[in-house]
Amino acid sequence: MSLKIIAPSALGIRGIDAHGSGEFGAPRSRGSAGASWAVQRYEHKGVDFIVVPGQNILCPCDAWVTRYGQAYVGDDRFGSIHLDSVDDPDFSLKLFYAQLRIDGALPVRVGAGAPFAMAQDLRQKYSGIIPHVHLEIRRLGVLVDPGSLLAEAV
Ligand SMILES: [Zn+2]
Repeated sequence: MSLKIIAPSALGIRGIDAHGSGEFGAPRSRGSAGASWAVQRYEHKGVDFIVVPGQNILCPCDAWVTRYGQAYVGDDRFGSIHLDSVDDPDFSLKLFYAQLRIDGALPVRVGAGAPFAMAQDLRQKYSGIIPHVHLEIRRLGVLVDPGSLLAEAV
């Protein structure tokens, strides 16, 4: 089994901005600027899809929404939506920077392509960033490139 996904937003993949690139595996760092010993380097774990804040976000696949929380601990402005694929339960997905817009207690099943969330404005946290939602996907707990699972190019 495998998984095909729909882009959660159809405005393309985030290119390079002041904070990095939206491609899978792009270099990232976190930690105190100016204190190089404190900076941690890592690779971007997902793909960033450009949004207009406030727009509908589409469910990437037929999925169970299992959890809704915060993308950043202690910051309730940005949501984190956890999904499990219905067609292939080996695949789990996380979508950041969107507010869940469905009713009822979780888990809730949402169809592929259904508008189920609203894009938030990441510029409130990172000046100069291209507004986007972040999608990361794991198969049996191992990160995969969401771009390789897209049914159509964006
Ligand atoms: Zn990202």
